[in-house]
Amino acid sequence: MSKLKPMTLGNIKRAFLGRGVKKLPLIAGHKLLYTCNLRCKMCPFWRRKDEKLLSLEEEILMLKTLEKSGVLFMGFEGGEPLLRRDLDQILEESYSRFYTSLVTNGWLLRDRVKYISEYLDYLFVSIDGIGEVHDRIRGIPGSFDRAVEGIKEAVRYLPVSLSFTITRENYDQVLDVLELSRKLGVTVSVQVEYDYSTAEKLSPERKKLLEVLNLLIELKRKGYPIVESPEYFQSIINSWYKGVNWRCKPWMLINIDPQGRIVLPCYVLNEYNGDKLVWETNIVKLWNSYPWEQYEKCNKCALACYLEPSLFSWTNFNMVNERIVNNILGYVSNFVKWN
Ligand code: SF4
Ligand code: SF4
Repeated sequence: MSKLKPMTLGNIKRAFLGRGVKKLPLIAGHKLLYTCNLRCKMCPFWRRKDEKLLSLEEEILMLKTLEKSGVLFMGFEGGEPLLRRDLDQILEESYSRFYTSLVTNGWLLRDRVKYISEYLDYLFVSIDGIGEVHDRIRGIPGSFDRAVEGIKEAVRYLPVSLSFTITRENYDQVLDVLELSRKLGVTVSVQVEYDYSTAEKLSPERKKLLEVLNLLIELKRKGYPIVESPEYFQSIINSWYKGVNWRCKPWMLINIDPQGRIVLPCYVLNEYNGDKLVWETNIVKLWNSYPWEQYEKCNKCALACYLEPSLFSWTNFNMVNERIVNNILGYVSNFVKWN
């Protein structure tokens, strides 16, 4: 993290581009590859063969297309992104255009983070429990210790968040993971497991999940370093336990598979199968002709990357404070801290 980004310029460009159209993607998620060095039980991606990956030139073409389509936030994931040898160059291209983040399992992090942190605003490291609970879910012994070693090194260079997915094998580990985050000086991003058809089904039992969601709301209100808003956890309770839907806006995200194809309508419903090549598509036109309305009441998943942006409202003071004011203050304070 080394320079203050021209986010204002990006916002102006987005406002200009958005004249006369209703929908533009705000956030982009890109799986750089499916290959992974871990074997997580609930993950369908390491089970897929990578066909030909995008070249560096194609990655840049993709980033330029996204920039022209109004995207401001770029998130890289996998598979394990650190397995790509050209990762530094891809991140550098992204960092010059977008607020850039990356999700890693942490296995290769300790030795690589110094170099990639130069081109990252934020890093997420998956932690699904303490010690052997994490190792059992992730399928490789020693993966917890390697991830923690990587995080200890990473916090020297940039802001880090643990990425914790609630499953039936770790719902009782929430407080332990929060305690770990306190020791490491990082925050925790919490997701609820989604059962993909081609992986082990680990989503938590309904009653247990409700207890955890209520606990998370309470802990968040007490000031624990949880990334998601209380409204996020409450919306899951409202939808899955009380039949009150949240309105999904999947168009706020554009997902791109390892071959550069756009995944529609969302990450979940077609289990990450891409269709049109991103740089051969007029994204603004597609975004404003696609039948998004039929997905508004879906509520099938509770992925924070869709639910949190869908909930955002300029008329909700707490949300504007947490999502806009605090994020800007956090961004500036991180810039000062790491420069
Ligand atoms: S680390 Fe991520 S990509 Fe790799 S197997 Fe686990 S969930 Fe899948
Ligand atoms: S709620 Fe439905 S439409 Fe919205 S992101 Fe989840 S699966 Fe997709």
